[in-house]
Amino acid sequence: MTSVASPLAPDWLAVPADPNDLPASVWPSSVLRDRHGVLSIGGVPATDLVQQFGTPLYVVDEEHVRARARETLDAFTGQFERIGTRAKVYYAGKAFLSTAVARWVSDEGLGVDVCTGGELAVALAAGVDPGRIGMHGNNKSLDEIERAVSAGVGTIVIDSEIEIDRVAAAAARLGRVQGVRLRVNSGVHAHTHDFLATAHEDQKFGFPLDRAEAAVRSIRSHAALEFRGLHCHIGSQIFGADGFAESAARLLSLHARLLETGPVPELNLGGGFGIAYTTADDPTPIAELAARIASIVEAECAALGIALPVVAFEPGRSIIGGAGVTLYSVGTIKDVDVTLQGGSSDATAPRRYVSVDGGMSDNARTALYGADYSVRIASRASDADAALVRIAGKHCESGDIVVNADYLPADVTPGDLLAVPATGAYCWALASNYNIVGRPPVVAVANGEARLLIRGETEHDLLARDTGFAPTAPGAS
Ligand code: PLP
Repeated sequence: MTSVASPLAPDWLAVPADPNDLPASVWPSSVLRDRHGVLSIGGVPATDLVQQFGTPLYVVDEEHVRARARETLDAFTGQFERIGTRAKVYYAGKAFLSTAVARWVSDEGLGVDVCTGGELAVALAAGVDPGRIGMHGNNKSLDEIERAVSAGVGTIVIDSEIEIDRVAAAAARLGRVQGVRLRVNSGVHAHTHDFLATAHEDQKFGFPLDRAEAAVRSIRSHAALEFRGLHCHIGSQIFGADGFAESAARLLSLHARLLETGPVPELNLGGGFGIAYTTADDPTPIAELAARIASIVEAECAALGIALPVVAFEPGRSIIGGAGVTLYSVGTIKDVDVTLQGGSSDATAPRRYVSVDGGMSDNARTALYGADYSVRIASRASDADAALVRIAGKHCESGDIVVNADYLPADVTPGDLLAVPATGAYCWALASNYNIVGRPPVVAVANGEARLLIRGETEHDLLARDTGFAPTAPGAS
């Protein structure tokens, strides 16, 4: 192959030596190409999955999820036992939640963190022990609070003053003592490699550090509440430990002051551990993060002269993100000439738009956050040179892009199946019906078998909630 780099490619994107390769950092561990070049996941060929379930299709590698859950729990438990305390790990269901996923992570020893009544309903329907569920949300309804307390969820994360009274009232009414955490803004914002620390936060979640002591006094004044500790979440897709270290240090000095007036058994540092979406991403392995964070907690507690708390975490993306692959069918292909920035005004380079049968309705992250993804042909291998492509969706939006830039074999053609890795987190969870498109099914693969977790929405599903829908009208089915 004699592929050359496109001047339109972003700086981080190298021309792959082989555009059929499946770099281990971005693909689930079970992914491989069979002797016909067909990509398989969990032992199931992509072509078989598509024959049975169609495209677009979310595929989740069950063993990958379980392995990441075990690895995370082992890393944190091992490191916090090393320093003389315990760790708890909750799976953040907002990344992707179904009853099967809730069961997988609970089987592996994780709790489940939910942030709406809907997520709570899924976790409870899965049979998750309510005592191992934590509930978040900056605006939980009275009904959500009531349901959480009556279900017996282990902890509710208090996000505002008014919620202290609301949770206390629900607990008193139901004759319970409800465990609560207090969400605070540590002033640390982290994203990928960098973090930024400010004294004051301009955001909707939690309490400023300087209002936390009064809030904890208020919590402790209610007999129906048990204060379990502080909580914070500094951001998402974080690669290093520095932001967590800074945040832990800030929280522990508040934690130490709170210990002067009552028990503070736990500290919850939230989630946010990053994953690789492309080969340019290099997140710190979870074992190293756990070791760094445990050492910081140990050193800070020693400096403050306080006992080590139990430390809790809430990873979502790092458990399930890398386990997901979305399969699409190629519909149309278009080459456009793009004027190059900074060169002579008539210098252009070609960009190939490959349009698939999904888009921003099944993966909003590219349009929403400018997220980068990778792509490969799933239905065959090819000897063609690599060509820069942009994978577009089918929606009426020019920002409807799934993969902003990657190299595919230049002979990519209508009918090919494409696979986009690392779509396990915040894709189905953020999916919409934009342009009246049904959300795709979710299928789990393991040991050569596929199992439907969530069926896809049909046009009938979409029409059924339209009160003007007459089942006999043209188009009704
Ligand atoms: N905990 C809280 C409070 C969050 O808001 C989030 C994500 O927004 C998470 C945990 C999970 O974050 P991630 O999926 O990046 O690990």
